[in-house]
Amino acid sequence: MNQPRVRFAPSPTGALHIGGVRTALYNYLLAKKLKGTFVLRIEDTDQTRYVPGAEAYIQASLEWCGLIPDEGPSYGGAFGPYRQSERKDIYAGYVQQLLDKGWAYYAFDTAEELEAIREAEHAKGNQGFKYDATVRLQLKNSLTMSKEAAEALIASGHPWTVRLKVPADEVVVVEDLIRGAVAFQTNELDDKVLLKSDGMPTYHLANIVDDHLMKITHVIRGEEWLSSTGHHVLLYRAFGWEETMPAFAHLPLILKPDGKGKLSKRDGKRLGIPVFPLSWESDNPEDAFVGFKETGFDPAAVINFLALLGWNSGTEQEIFSLDELIDAFSLEKIGKSGARFDFDKAKWFNEQYIKGKDNAVLAAQLMPLAKERSYRADLPFLEQFCGLMKERVTFYQDFFEEGYYFFEDVHTYDLATVQKKWKPERRAAMDVLRDSLTQLPDFTHEAIKKAVESFMESAQLKFGDVLPILRIAVSGTMKGPAIFEMMELLGKEEIVKRLSAAFDVFDQNV
Ligand code: GLU
Repeated sequence: MNQPRVRFAPSPTGALHIGGVRTALYNYLLAKKLKGTFVLRIEDTDQTRYVPGAEAYIQASLEWCGLIPDEGPSYGGAFGPYRQSERKDIYAGYVQQLLDKGWAYYAFDTAEELEAIREAEHAKGNQGFKYDATVRLQLKNSLTMSKEAAEALIASGHPWTVRLKVPADEVVVVEDLIRGAVAFQTNELDDKVLLKSDGMPTYHLANIVDDHLMKITHVIRGEEWLSSTGHHVLLYRAFGWEETMPAFAHLPLILKPDGKGKLSKRDGKRLGIPVFPLSWESDNPEDAFVGFKETGFDPAAVINFLALLGWNSGTEQEIFSLDELIDAFSLEKIGKSGARFDFDKAKWFNEQYIKGKDNAVLAAQLMPLAKERSYRADLPFLEQFCGLMKERVTFYQDFFEEGYYFFEDVHTYDLATVQKKWKPERRAAMDVLRDSLTQLPDFTHEAIKKAVESFMESAQLKFGDVLPILRIAVSGTMKGPAIFEMMELLGKEEIVKRLSAAFDVFDQNV
């Protein structure tokens, strides 16, 4: 087989949906598995849908996920340029080939004329007017006029397009690597526009010419492109490139969390969940979105989650590093039916990745966030803090949002629990406990535990009487990490201060 080459070919029409990231991931995994090349190609021929900043967003998203293209607009490579708008001159020659071979023709019908025909057909009960073999010989094109007349029209500046001449009465069969044989009846296919008057090719033409010139061996893309594949195979035939036509693999849809229909960007807004890798800014709040990154996801968790959204390894294993994914990946194990976007599962993956990280690595990673909040940010402290918190968080932000009390005074106390547990008549005893803590030479969790236990014995109190009080006094909440470890990390002076302050608050609230 030729050297494997795959491409991710997004159009820069806005933020890259998470489904696009999954397409890029599967391309990347196959490329690495086969020791091939992963190409990024920007399909920006439709100027009307071009959105400034989208290309940079796509690139930043791939880089955040660790899916670094081997070739692409900012990565170089021998098959560039990798932006289709910079390849305009290349396409013209290929369109001429199709015109010369009789596989394409000039069409001069204006948009208004075609609209009028569509309406007239509609009135006759024909809903689906198509520019195709059944009507092309009744329309205004180079098939129905002399060469000279066509040339004169072009020279006069009359608007034109070049269309593919789809042959009638044939069946085109595509062997999809995921779906098996998919048949297209050519009578169902319209004569797609290949080139517009401004010299810009349409997606169909540019995509095929570039896949050929860039020696692409596998086209892995979303299911929504399956319906175009009949046209694409005809184009390969028209050019005489069938021998080197890439293999096709159309990925299943990503479905809404309830499984009902395709996951859209609106679902992200509606459900308050990210469906984009990175946040997307916009003056129009309707178009602005929060991404997985800013929600506090680890990119490795996102990749792991996406890998299993439509593909399975055939084993029980769920946690895969990128290298393990490359090793285990195969197109055959991609499912045909839609994959439900389960945000709880995404969160579960993130929890596993955070938990699995070394405390020192986490501390270094969180340090900038700590500094941003003007929190204590020395590594040894952050390392122990991470060790205490990492089992209890879902997102990176949770470390500081839920564990703020490691850096600041307690903001709010869980008064409902205080009211159940605080007995004003025990205040004096609790003060004794506080004072006994000041006497500890080594403020270690073992020593604190011992002191608390001997206090309970002498005061005839149980764990349930004392520990919730200590916990809420130190952190405000019943949900924090192990109490004695937490006290050790905060240090004697701080703990004594917190106990005094909290006992006063508790007295006032029962
Ligand atoms: N430009 C198309 C897109 O935006 C590419 C489809 C394909 O991979 O052929 O998804």
